[in-house]
Amino acid sequence: MSLARLIGGFVRRHWHAYVSSAFMLAGVAICTVLIPRKVGALIDGLAAHRLDQDALLLGLAQLLGLGLAIYVLRVGWRIRLYSAAYNLGVELRTRLYARLAAQGPAFYGRQRTGDLMALATNDIDAIEMAAGEAMLAGFDGTLTLLMVLGIMTLGVDWRLASIALLPFPLMALAFWRISSHIHKAEGDALKRFSALNDHVQESLTGVRTLRALGLEDRSAAQFSELAGNAADASLSAQRWEAAYEPAVGLTLSAATGLTLGLGGYLVWNNELTVGALTSFSMYLGQLIWPMFAAGWVLSLIERGRAGLARLQPLLDTPLTVDDKGTLEQVGRGPLVVKDVTFAYGEADRPALSEVSVAMQPGQTLGLVGPTGAGKSTLLRVLLRQATPQQGAVSWAGHRLEDYRLSALRAALSWVPQESFLFSATIAENIALARPGASRLDVEEAARMASIHDDILRFPQGYDTPVGEKGITLSGGQRQRVAIARALLADSSLLLLDDALSAVDTGTETRILEHLAELRAARPERAAIIASHRLSSVAGADRIVVLRDGRITESGTHDELLALDGWYASQWRYQQLEASIDAE
Ligand code: ATP
Repeated sequence: MSLARLIGGFVRRHWHAYVSSAFMLAGVAICTVLIPRKVGALIDGLAAHRLDQDALLLGLAQLLGLGLAIYVLRVGWRIRLYSAAYNLGVELRTRLYARLAAQGPAFYGRQRTGDLMALATNDIDAIEMAAGEAMLAGFDGTLTLLMVLGIMTLGVDWRLASIALLPFPLMALAFWRISSHIHKAEGDALKRFSALNDHVQESLTGVRTLRALGLEDRSAAQFSELAGNAADASLSAQRWEAAYEPAVGLTLSAATGLTLGLGGYLVWNNELTVGALTSFSMYLGQLIWPMFAAGWVLSLIERGRAGLARLQPLLDTPLTVDDKGTLEQVGRGPLVVKDVTFAYGEADRPALSEVSVAMQPGQTLGLVGPTGAGKSTLLRVLLRQATPQQGAVSWAGHRLEDYRLSALRAALSWVPQESFLFSATIAENIALARPGASRLDVEEAARMASIHDDILRFPQGYDTPVGEKGITLSGGQRQRVAIARALLADSSLLLLDDALSAVDTGTETRILEHLAELRAARPERAAIIASHRLSSVAGADRIVVLRDGRITESGTHDELLALDGWYASQWRYQQLEASIDAE
């Protein structure tokens, strides 16, 4: 969509704000052109000794009145217009946010966070300015130009007007030449600001790593270079804008020279009064604003176009996961993964190859295998964060795609490898899974995740703020808060992705016992536990070993030990390791 269409659609929806602003601007333009006329008449009256004191005072009072009216109308249109233009910013930001919220991991794998943040702030600001400031300055400038030209030609002297306007085509030429440079420079400036944003975001996220590796100076030097690049790009846009100003000045000086030349001659020959020449010179001065408005509008529009050119592809990016299913609820029934093959983007080797596995409601499935074997990927397929290229997954008799995403998400609780805590209290972080949950429910979930006692030791217990603005939890505590959150959701399938890796074996055993208790209370609850630590899955109804994306072994703990393959050797190794640690 072009900027003109975007703004056109917006203006149609908010026409009352634009029309009332336009009326106020027209009022400003009328008052503005009346002033030189009034001044000219006063001068002629004074020169001809026609004006008495009262008439002079009345004339001055009228000038003051016009000045005040201009002031009030200017404030009025700004307030009216900007409140409408800010709405465009809100609309675009909301659309962008909704789009980002619906995208899956494949999309985020390609995008840089700093870039997305720059789009949501800087680029949308640029479009907002084009819809507000540029629209009205364009309207105001054009109206003033037409009225001033009209009154110069018809109200003062057409011969003077024709001569005075001779240099103006030169300025139009400069305007046309400069506009393409400004477009390029504005696009460049927005892109470089994004790169700067990316660097700041990445450095702040990884500030501890940077410090630990002693890379602060290098990062600062990179920042300084990127900031310099962004400043250079903005300066280049400014330079082109600045090139426009002398062109305006030169044109107006030439026009003034021509006006005084011909005007002086006409006054000399008594074909023009001094007052009329004064009015004409004042009108010439009033052309400065439309000329500058043209340059300013040009730069705002180019900036808006550059911003939209960066934003549009993002809004048009197809969703990496579609939500076309219609089923509102997942019923009771087996989960069947059949011949699933999945490869990430450009990867030459699939992360999952012909994986088939089935589980009944209430069962626990263990998922083990070396690092990079595809455990997390299989969970992502179940979460519909990844869509298999071959094979299918069905749950309770229907394909996963037949369910609405909201239905699937209600039926699944997922604790990822890296659990995230928001800047809120611990209780709020746990209750995210079920916003209406009572404090008792939250505490019960925390007990089940073996984090209740830790929480009571925090300065304000469950009301202790965590996340970026609060205390920092240890990796194990964070994992257990995330498990509590998942348990509170009370969904029928719990997915734990290496979610016990940062807790000690004693705590791990307690959490697994609690999970078994919960399943005894609600027998239809199932769980898939992906883990490096085999003790996490030893009690599962069935364990699947994944290696290089393929299932190489499968069975119960005892069956796999009897098989004497990868599982059995890992089990012996981990038991030995545990006994050495215990000594
Ligand atoms: P770990 O136990 O270390 O978490 P895993 O068994 O969970 O490993 P996956 O994370 O599923 O393994 O990764 C399987 C393969 O897919 C690996 O080769 C990995 O490099 C690749 N992979 C994982 N995520 C992505 C991604 N977003 N884009 C491209 N490749 C990926």
